[in-house]
Amino acid sequence: MHRIVHFDLKGAPLQVQYFEKVLLAAKAWGATGVLLEWEDTFPYTAALADIGSVRGSSGDGMYSMEEVRHLLRFIKDNGLEPIQLVQTIGHLEFVLKHPAYHSLRELPRSPAVLCPSKPEALQLVKMMLEQVLDVQLDAAFVHIGADEVWHTAICPECQSRAANSVHSTASLYLEHIRELALFLKQKRPELTVLMWDDMLRTVKCETINAYQLGELVQPVVWQYNALEYFQIDPYLWESYRQIFPKVWAGSAFKGANGSCQILSPVSRYVSNQEAWRLEIKKYGHSTHFVGVILTGWSRFDHYATLCELLPVALPSLASCLRAWTKSDDTPLESAVSEVLPSSQWPGEELARSVHSFVILRDRCFAFVHGDLVKTWLNPWQIENGYTNPVQVEGLAASAQQ
Ligand SMILES: [Zn+2]
Repeated sequence: MHRIVHFDLKGAPLQVQYFEKVLLAAKAWGATGVLLEWEDTFPYTAALADIGSVRGSSGDGMYSMEEVRHLLRFIKDNGLEPIQLVQTIGHLEFVLKHPAYHSLRELPRSPAVLCPSKPEALQLVKMMLEQVLDVQLDAAFVHIGADEVWHTAICPECQSRAANSVHSTASLYLEHIRELALFLKQKRPELTVLMWDDMLRTVKCETINAYQLGELVQPVVWQYNALEYFQIDPYLWESYRQIFPKVWAGSAFKGANGSCQILSPVSRYVSNQEAWRLEIKKYGHSTHFVGVILTGWSRFDHYATLCELLPVALPSLASCLRAWTKSDDTPLESAVSEVLPSSQWPGEELARSVHSFVILRDRCFAFVHGDLVKTWLNPWQIENGYTNPVQVEGLAASAQQ
């Protein structure tokens, strides 16, 4: 089974030299491939120059075309499978926020979703896919995202198309995906097209089959919960079995535990891998799982603050990969380690500083909002100069600890 590590570069592109160290570490821990989610860090050119790194929309000029080519080659040369991800309908904030593309939004006040009924919209995502694939002539896979499409059939064109289709609203999304997959297959017949599965979960199997998606794409079924909350409706496997000859599992090693979390709790993420292993054991006889994609989210959307920086999450990544490579009779706890040896931990110093920051922040918060300040140094007491100096001296002493 493939073990693909997802690098979410949006908002936090890794310096090339550092990225190389992380890739080598991931390989040593058991990764077999890499999923690169460039978002606005890809150097889109010509008509698309505004949406990528060429005009510096990510602020730091990363990445240049040479860097992209270098990274793809580096990944391949080190025996890892490089897979590029381009969002093609939802999570297109980095494109639809630009005034030139406002008219292509499904919901005018939301930059998240592309209207699949506008011909220019299809042209736009095809052009993006083309540019990304042009730098990877030997690509075996491409990922078209397609998750979390929050707004569907809002604009008049989409409403009327949905009303005139026997498959109603679902037809808009399915037709869009089908069109893109056919475009990709025509361009590169050998290419395997991956997509996130969440938008397909509620669509009837006959409807998906009407668009022949089973022949065109492989879905990545994602579920990021720890074992005790992990749940996939068994009906989903039954349904996907009738559509897709091959499916993927999508787990998480970071960025799935709250939108502004700072630390990556290793046992929580390892527990998610364990839940997936059990799920595959249970359904693997009838469903063909090609591999797992271990996702590592940097932020919840284009506008969100970063969560769980990569160096902090590397012990989690190492442990999560170990959960997939260990033999069944090795106890799971042996896969969990909160730290890594210095030689295997690129960015260890930063990770340790982040841990210290969290401890200090918690202590500071507890002090400022604690009983001592509330009782002897509250705003009323400060304003009126009315408190016991000895208590304030005690406060000052505890603040210095
Ligand atoms: Zn529309």
